[in-house]
Amino acid sequence: MDLQINKEQREKIWQYIQKRIETHRSGIINQRVSPILDKPSVRKLLESQPFDKVMDPVEAIELVLSGLENHLVHTSHPHYMGLFNPRSNFASIIGDLITAAYNPQMATWSHAPFPIECEQYVVEQLGKKLGYEDYCDGVFTSGGAEANLTAVTCALNYVFPEVKKAGLKSLNANPVLYCSTEAHHSVARAAIVTGLGANSVRNIPTNSVLQMDMDILEQTIKTDISNGFDPFCIIGTAGTTGAGAIDDLNTIRLISDTYGLWMHTDAAYGGALCLTKQYNYLLKEIEASDSITLDAHKWLSVPMGAGIFLTRHNQILSQTFGISTDYMPKEGKALNNIDPYTHSIQWSRRFIGLKLYLSLLIYGWEGYDKSISDDIRIGKYLKELLIADGWKIYNNTELPIVCFGMASWESSRDQVFNVVEDIVAQGQMWLSSFKIKNVNTIRACITNYETRDKEIETIVSLLRAFQKQ
Ligand SMILES: *Cc1c(COP(=O)(O)O)cnc(C)c1O
Repeated sequence: MDLQINKEQREKIWQYIQKRIETHRSGIINQRVSPILDKPSVRKLLESQPFDKVMDPVEAIELVLSGLENHLVHTSHPHYMGLFNPRSNFASIIGDLITAAYNPQMATWSHAPFPIECEQYVVEQLGKKLGYEDYCDGVFTSGGAEANLTAVTCALNYVFPEVKKAGLKSLNANPVLYCSTEAHHSVARAAIVTGLGANSVRNIPTNSVLQMDMDILEQTIKTDISNGFDPFCIIGTAGTTGAGAIDDLNTIRLISDTYGLWMHTDAAYGGALCLTKQYNYLLKEIEASDSITLDAHKWLSVPMGAGIFLTRHNQILSQTFGISTDYMPKEGKALNNIDPYTHSIQWSRRFIGLKLYLSLLIYGWEGYDKSISDDIRIGKYLKELLIADGWKIYNNTELPIVCFGMASWESSRDQVFNVVEDIVAQGQMWLSSFKIKNVNTIRACITNYETRDKEIETIVSLLRAFQKQ
């Protein structure tokens, strides 16, 4: 057998997979959210079918689907109150399918005029929503971590242009960057990958509402300068991963200007607020950022991986990542387009933007506005119901992330971990834990457009059984 499957069989497979996926997605509420963790069964399933014999395609697909159905946390489940992993919207699933089938090569413009212009168009339109009215450049990435790595690399090359050729070792400087203790750890990873090292990240403590403390930030910058360090970048977070705090972007801009630093805003999660009429004021000042991270695979409900790096500087991506080669296609050179491979960390790259473009075509800004605003409303409803049941709330954010616990648990180190472990093991809902100012809390986050009033009421009633532990 070669790599062909005949037409008749293909038609059978299309029909089969369509039905199976529909059944899975519409019946997910009756399934466990989280699996029983059982590595031997997973291995047994995999080893049941060695590659030296071939399988009927439908049986092969069935093997995969049974593996997925039984051994996976179902982030598309309306009781998954998790880590920003959404239920993929239907348009975006079709988008990803089309991407796989047409397989556009996104390295050079001439290979993929429609896909590349389409991504650029989506970047520009999103840029306008984020307040980059006049100009917005950007690139779709695998996720927020790559977008943050892109940001740190651009910031470094902006402030120290000699780094591109001669490397960090040529610098007669000691570059450092700033973010809060609540910032995502992909910032530390970016410092590691760029060779700056994790110690070059200054984690600034937060105030009572978990925003980066602006006085400590400025004081740390001053101390660093007087100790011979060279600040080059501040990374504010708009919607922290733990508790949904939004840093004071206005003051970060002022401090960045005073010291000549690049301002990056990590809005991987919270950036979605800019698509709403009611809540976009929360990110009003994001437009002052030199660059922004936004993850479409979080609150914009498209499948992983889909991050976006956006910037208002028109040269920085080419200046940072540009490289010339002999072997890349040259046709269409006179058209004066930018080849994405000269503009990003990735080289060959899939058509990541299609799943978002198709979602926007089918649901429009309006669909996203409604879905995101509803999630926020549901978050407030969850908070109300929890308070009515005697739970204590530990965070304060407009975003649909609720960190809660019983006041009587505060003195116990492990109580929250034990409860969360029991909740997850029971399989009816998925919640995590998060430490706020030394108190462990249960964290519930709504990013599923099918988690609505009824689901929230079920979750709160299920939680009652754990209150007395
Ligand atoms: C999730 C997240 C990231 C990392 O994004 P990935 O898509 O997981 O790579 C970065 N920053 C924030 C604030 C996040 O919430």
